[in-house]
Amino acid sequence: MPYKNPDAQREYQRRWAKKKRLKFVSSLCCDVCESKEGIRIFSKVPGVRVATMRPWDKKTPRENYKVLCQNHSTLPRKPRKRSPRKKAQRQKKIAPARQMAINALIKLKKRRETEREQEALT
Ligand SMILES: [Zn+2]
Repeated sequence: MPYKNPDAQREYQRRWAKKKRLKFVSSLCCDVCESKEGIRIFSKVPGVRVATMRPWDKKTPRENYKVLCQNHSTLPRKPRKRSPRKKAQRQKKIAPARQMAINALIKLKKRRETEREQEALT
């Protein structure tokens, strides 16, 4: 019987789904040592998370995910250390007007050089 109160209905469904998930997870054991302590499921399909695969209510092929205990999964995942930024990336952006001025100067310099070369030839 569905609940009349939608919130109660949702809560019931949430609890039911959690129970199902827990039951599924407790049926698993570590791929490495067959322990059942601190079991975690890891996706083996790049870009597809376990939460999306939902192996607890879909027929997800067993080879799509791996199961590891707390000793064999590296947890908690440490935040990746940021590598120091390269100097090139830190370089200040040049305002377009300034860049245009610089380009004009370079062009002028080049033109003067070619003019000088031509003068030397004649
Ligand atoms: Zn293990």
